[in-house]
Amino acid sequence: MSDTRYPSATSAPELQQRSLAAVWHPCTQMKQHEQIPLVPIASGKGVWLYDTNGQRYLDAISSWWVNLFGHAHPHINAAIRDQLEKIEHVMLAGFTHEPVVMLSERLRQIAPGTLGHCFYASDGASAIEIALKMSFHHWLLAGHPEKNRFVSLQNDYHGETLGALSVTDVPIFRQTYEPLLRPGTHVQTPDWRYAEAGESAQDYALRAATALENHLAKHHAETAALILEPLVQGAMGMGMYHPVYLQRAREICTRYQVHLIADEIAVGFGRTGMLFACNQAAIAPDFLCLSKGLSGGYLPLSVVMTTDTIYQAFYDDRTARAFLHSHSHTGNALACRAALATLELIERDQVLATNQHKAIHMNSLAAALTEHPSVKHFRHCGMIWAFDVDTHDDDFAAKCFQAGLQQQLLLRPLGKTIYFMPPYVITEDEMQLLVTGTRRVLDTLL
Ligand SMILES: *Cc1c(COP(=O)(O)O)cnc(C)c1O
Repeated sequence: MSDTRYPSATSAPELQQRSLAAVWHPCTQMKQHEQIPLVPIASGKGVWLYDTNGQRYLDAISSWWVNLFGHAHPHINAAIRDQLEKIEHVMLAGFTHEPVVMLSERLRQIAPGTLGHCFYASDGASAIEIALKMSFHHWLLAGHPEKNRFVSLQNDYHGETLGALSVTDVPIFRQTYEPLLRPGTHVQTPDWRYAEAGESAQDYALRAATALENHLAKHHAETAALILEPLVQGAMGMGMYHPVYLQRAREICTRYQVHLIADEIAVGFGRTGMLFACNQAAIAPDFLCLSKGLSGGYLPLSVVMTTDTIYQAFYDDRTARAFLHSHSHTGNALACRAALATLELIERDQVLATNQHKAIHMNSLAAALTEHPSVKHFRHCGMIWAFDVDTHDDDFAAKCFQAGLQQQLLLRPLGKTIYFMPPYVITEDEMQLLVTGTRRVLDTLL
């Protein structure tokens, strides 16, 4: 019998060198790693990541916003182990299994409005593709093939596959691929940072909503859906906005017969302080896209939830009227079990209430940052904190990342915005380490 163990890398430099030879890392100019070492991670526990040299890093950004309850959480680990002994994966066309049924029923109970039908995929961008296709297809089935355009918000991020990138407005991801993208409109962002001096967040959000209304008044006939990131526009620097915008957007979409797609891939599952960001405005979208924290950040899983009305339009004797879309790992059983365990933790540990106390504590520590002369627009929503740094250094993000590692922190600024989006298990002592370390980073770099 051959030895099926994979050879373990013995040292950090060796792991680094082999990674650079064989792995094309995401969102990375690989050549920069001639100078900057990769961080070779060996294990994780709670908010901490441990590298192969025994150094530790506080994962202040939940490993690209996916982790909710820390690394190696015993409850989620146990659920996955248990599922592993039963069935790891089976195709979801023609087959079903308990984890996917239980997860769909549970999501239906907790989602805003009456979103009774769950369509699964593996990552966030795929969920966006599904929502866009379903929305267009629904209008097609309803006799409106001309409704084939999408509206999104200026500064929105919805993922990087071609459909998702078409509704994304982040220049560094978009520019190169512009010729491959579908035309669409990005209407004025409600991000309060764009308000006039003296204009309140609410007034500015209402002004942005008027821009949306003006656009749809003219273009509703060819528009299938408005897609947006509710409350927090993540990738373009954690821009935050007033929930009144969501209320107005819901009214306007209903009035003009345009679907509302809520992309809660980053903000779902308690990030903004309520279970879903849409709850903060007491609205229900026509499509809800979830991923990232859905599986506690453990396994790739995403879901698009939609209404009976939309589901029923596809329900027919003719196969051609079905939603003929699939991904190989749709409804993966291990990922669904991880998701169920994550939802159990949210309920069992009364996470929303606990997080409120954690947020109050974090805000009480934040003076150490807000009083820094280079810190602008300090903002907070639920378990997300962000501020902009006044600097002309275009290399600030990379330098801050390196300086963060020196302080045992995983920070990965978005341009000149530093943000914290820690796992919910962060303790008061760990918050103190985070704030003190970040202050040292600011003092070193600015
Ligand atoms: C991360 C993200 C996506 C894309 O998800 P992937 O799993 O990275 O494809 C889409 N929308 C929002 C709001 C996100 O934050």
